[in-house]
Amino acid sequence: MADDTIFARILRGEIPCDEVYRDDRCLAFRDVAPQAPVHVLVIPSEPIESLRSAGEEHEALLGHLLLVAARVAKQEGLEDWRTVINSGAEAGQTVFHLHVHVIGGRPLSWPPG
Ligand code: AMP
Repeated sequence: MADDTIFARILRGEIPCDEVYRDDRCLAFRDVAPQAPVHVLVIPSEPIESLRSAGEEHEALLGHLLLVAARVAKQEGLEDWRTVINSGAEAGQTVFHLHVHVIGGRPLSWPPG
């Protein structure tokens, strides 16, 4: 799959990021425009456009991304946090490389806008 997103460029090391975790399947780094004291993005190394385009073959990877999200949240000292995956422009997705937002460090309201 072609992947020319800014996250692909971060994965290739072409542009810098504030990395907080990396393994052979994913990378986690701080959001450049944080919406809370902790705002980290967990992205797969593999270019999946969004959750809506993930398939059965990604089942283990998707589970891994969520476990890494929890690991990162705890690493950041959070006991409570929110994980968000926006799928599609109308849902707020702006970068079309699957990513899990990990947001916390302040009270978070619900429902989202
Ligand atoms: P979404 O709107 O769900 O697609 O989330 C994309 C997120 O990527 C936004 O929260 C942006 O602030 C963030 N973002 C965009 N470019 C960068 C970058 N170069 N480094 C870190 N975060 C970024």
